[in-house]
Amino acid sequence: MQPFPVPPDEIPVGGVWQRGRGSASRCVDPADGSVVASIHAADSAQVDAAAAAGAAAAADPAWRDLLPHQRARLLCRVADAIEEHASELALLQTRNTGKALAETSALVASAAGTFRYYAAALETLEGELPPRRGPHLTMSVHEPIGVIGAITPWNSPIASDAQKIAPALAAGNAVLLKPAEATPLVSLALARLVHAAGVPAGLLSVLPGPGSVVGDAIARHPRVGKLAFTGGTATGRVLGRIAAERIIPVTMELGGKSPTIVCPDADAESAVAGILYGIFSSTGQSCIAGSRIFLPRAEYSAWSRLLTEGAGALRLGPGTDPSTQVGPLATFAHRDRVAGMVDRARDEGARVLCGGRIPDSPRLAQGAYYLPTLLAGLAVDAKTCQEEIFGPVGVLLPYDDEEDLVAQANATAFGLACGVWTEDYRRALRLAQRVEAGTVWVNTYKQFSISTPFSGVKESGLGSDKGRLAIRSYQRQKSVYLGLAEEPIGWALR
Ligand code: ADP
Repeated sequence: MQPFPVPPDEIPVGGVWQRGRGSASRCVDPADGSVVASIHAADSAQVDAAAAAGAAAAADPAWRDLLPHQRARLLCRVADAIEEHASELALLQTRNTGKALAETSALVASAAGTFRYYAAALETLEGELPPRRGPHLTMSVHEPIGVIGAITPWNSPIASDAQKIAPALAAGNAVLLKPAEATPLVSLALARLVHAAGVPAGLLSVLPGPGSVVGDAIARHPRVGKLAFTGGTATGRVLGRIAAERIIPVTMELGGKSPTIVCPDADAESAVAGILYGIFSSTGQSCIAGSRIFLPRAEYSAWSRLLTEGAGALRLGPGTDPSTQVGPLATFAHRDRVAGMVDRARDEGARVLCGGRIPDSPRLAQGAYYLPTLLAGLAVDAKTCQEEIFGPVGVLLPYDDEEDLVAQANATAFGLACGVWTEDYRRALRLAQRVEAGTVWVNTYKQFSISTPFSGVKESGLGSDKGRLAIRSYQRQKSVYLGLAEEPIGWALR
């Protein structure tokens, strides 16, 4: 393996790299428990300094007056820098999150693509001249909000960071980024590249630390004009309340308990491969994991056997091993939480078809591993079928007919994603319309494009990420009336 430099214990605060003045937190490689780095959190004075510097940098004519194509050029340079450092970034993320290198490499590539996409999109957005209804010309223009508070989770840091930073910068703002406490390393590395690419350094501060301290300070900071959040629904509620008190916009990408539906005519090879990928890739630590797997009751045993065999054959190992399909969970604490949820499922009456425990291989003994697990025998309203586990745990659920299927698929507070496996496009479209979800995949799963908006319904989110109009969600609209009448307004004249 290539040598791995320990990242410095420094964070960028308003353009100055410095030691965080909050508590120190160790970044641990979950594949073997080794400490990768120690990073001090930001304190509230550093949040304040970052916000003040961000507001000043966003208002500085050197940034504010850049024309779209000039700002786009900077974003393209960031994309180039990410690509030049792709292998370091992927390895850093693998060491800090446990994800397989193939996945972190794809996330790094997607982050570069995100900067390039928003550079291109920025040049295409236009203001409007609404039809005249009087002696005036009205212009509808879009302006930056100022300082954006972006709060991201630990599962896919560089991709979720880029999906907020790129459109926010494209829109002309500064960003205060709060990565998850356990996984700040790749976000810090990304900030170095953003600065090195020529983006004024005050425009991007990265403020790691505990959510309830640093995230809260960002969300409540008077200079922060919008919150962009990805994480759990409980935190989303907290941030939504803060945004409501402050009357600032918030976009939220929250949790899920997504149904994956096998129809009786599904192609078995594709369906099994797609379902296993949907629930077990990223070790199930994905908001869109297809964690409720609906099978036609008449063929339940056959499908259940195929899926159980497939899950049992997945290769566990460190993310740095190219043959690994399922890496460790991101932290030991999270692995223990997942194990606890499977124990609770047993208490609820679940049958464990495969997995359901920590692997006993000595090769994996030092890491935060958990075996790919399939559960059966639970009703759709069991806690295990309602709460997000965020780990390699899927539940098999039989259904009788389409009405029963739709009722069960929608029997959740979430509405993030859905997978449908069928050869019948009419049925696919019917289900795509009837299942409450922000994204529906037909005969595929967990595929993404930055050009396609991503949103959740119900308790899975508010607003959209991705797509060219995401830039608009980091701007505010202003109407400008240019009076054209030659005569004064008559009302005040006698
Ligand atoms: P997950 O369950 O994926 O860890 P969380 O919602 O706990 O999701 O965390 C997502 C992000 O939100 C992290 O950066 C975390 O530190 C932050 N966070 C957690 N609690 C709060 C809070 N009360 N205020 C602001 N940010 C928070």
